[in-house]
Amino acid sequence: MEIVEDVVIVGAGIAGLTTSLGLHRLGIRSLVLESSDRLRTTGFAFTTWNNAWKALDAIGVGESLRQQHQLAQGILVTSTFLEKPTAEVSFKGHEIRCLQRKLLLETLANELPSDTIRFSSKVVSIEESGFFKRIHLADGAIIKTKVLIGGDGVNSVVAKWLGFEKPVFTGRSAIRGTAKFEGGHGFGPKFRQFVGKGVRSGFLPCDDDTVYWFMTWTPDIKEEELEEDPIKLKQFAMNKLKDTSDEMKSVMEKTSLDGIISSPLRYRRPWELLWGNISKGNVCVAGDALHPMTPDLGQGGCSALEDGVILARCLAQALLKSSAGEEIKEKFDEEEDKYKRIEMGLKNFAQERRWRSFDLVSTAYMVWNSKFEEELEEDPLKLKQFVISKLKGDALHPMTPDLGQGGCSAMEDALVLARCLAQALLKPAGEEIRQKKLMQKRNLRGLKLMGLKNFSRERRWTSFDLITTSIWFDLT
Ligand SMILES: Cc1cc2nc3c(=O)[nH]c(=O)nc-3n(C[C@H](O)[C@H](O)[C@H](O)COP(=O)(O)OP(=O)(O)OC[C@H]3O[C@@H](n4cnc5c(N)ncnc54)[C@H](O)[C@@H]3O)c2cc1C
Repeated sequence: MEIVEDVVIVGAGIAGLTTSLGLHRLGIRSLVLESSDRLRTTGFAFTTWNNAWKALDAIGVGESLRQQHQLAQGILVTSTFLEKPTAEVSFKGHEIRCLQRKLLLETLANELPSDTIRFSSKVVSIEESGFFKRIHLADGAIIKTKVLIGGDGVNSVVAKWLGFEKPVFTGRSAIRGTAKFEGGHGFGPKFRQFVGKGVRSGFLPCDDDTVYWFMTWTPDIKEEELEEDPIKLKQFAMNKLKDTSDEMKSVMEKTSLDGIISSPLRYRRPWELLWGNISKGNVCVAGDALHPMTPDLGQGGCSALEDGVILARCLAQALLKSSAGEEIKEKFDEEEDKYKRIEMGLKNFAQERRWRSFDLVSTAYMVWNSKFEEELEEDPLKLKQFVISKLKGDALHPMTPDLGQGGCSAMEDALVLARCLAQALLKPAGEEIRQKKLMQKRNLRGLKLMGLKNFSRERRWTSFDLITTSIWFDLT
């Protein structure tokens, strides 16, 4: 027998459960289909910023989660192979905590009516059926629904149905773990990060006893096999970071084998978010299904929470619109009317999230892949300050861009270009003699080229950002 539902959400992860709870708070029931036989707590913990806490407050679970998670006071960034901390940034004025996924998912699930989540329900295909979608599960069951939401993560079947490509492998992988220190870890509420030689790692206390840690690196083919074996994984991570701080090593040592995982890092090409169907008819995607990103901004989970709150609002506005006062319609007209309202609600969600998703995915990519990578070892503060300014400013509060930027950016270009060229040609006094010799020995052309290269690096992303923003405005 076919079950008929108003709203079906695929995936009981952060995006799926937040959307379901957001809808529940607004008086709308949804059914969440989860492929696992229980809540999946993969990833253990993640950094949450102001935007995540605003979203958690909006669905009424912020306070209880705050009680269970320490407020981080700052970040200490150290070159992996130096002993002294090289940079410290205060988090004063920001709410940043390391949130345990298990506690988050359980809190969200416990706030929902008991029959909301259906476990062991893997969605395998989606079919059109008039104003409905028919969802086929791996066990042969079929569910018909008026609204279908994909909160099914990076390998989303719903995103595939909408026409999105499979997210791209970055060539980088991550190992993540949690360590329990009975009687307290004593590290204090600071985020520690280590950078150098292509490996980024760090740890952050969640509470007095629990510490979350991570490491990202570029594996070779042999190392890719590590994914399945926690013993080798732990040994590998310990070996890779054998020269790092004793604190980091003690956190890794304290990690039990069921508290460690490895995952390849994938992201969606940002331009797909501009052209792609975030929604189509009565179907849409949220969370990693929409905007998988590299973890360098620590915003994947935070933005999945944002998605959930906004999607619940947009959908509720569509579903709760009263048709009272209108003349009584034929059943077909009523269904068509509802379908159109749902379509409009999801379109509104897509419009609100398109540029935000684009901004986050491309910023995270830039932080990982741009010149910052090269500068990191010399000056880790640069990267952190960039991330924080980005999170304080436009990444957190994307403003309506009244662009008018062509002339302004041309002037910016001119200044940056003049500086880069001058830096190349007029080196500081102490270096003058060495540079003169170098110029004679090699050639002036080489230095000019280097200056132009620096200029093109500095301007690539700004130009890209401006052009795509203009195109976007043209389209919307
Ligand atoms: C190394 C690393 C570090 C990170 N650090 C941070 C950080 O510090 N801060 C931050 O905000 N984010 C971080 N993230 C990102 C964050 O973990 C993700 O963005 C977030 O978990 C996405 O949530 P989601 O609900 O969209 O997807 P998921 O958490 O993947 O949930 C998807 C759910 O759907 C289910 N599912 C999948 N397919 C089906 C199907 N066919 N049928 C039924 N169910 C299905 C899955 O079982 C799962 O439960 C990090 C990610 C990585 C890899």
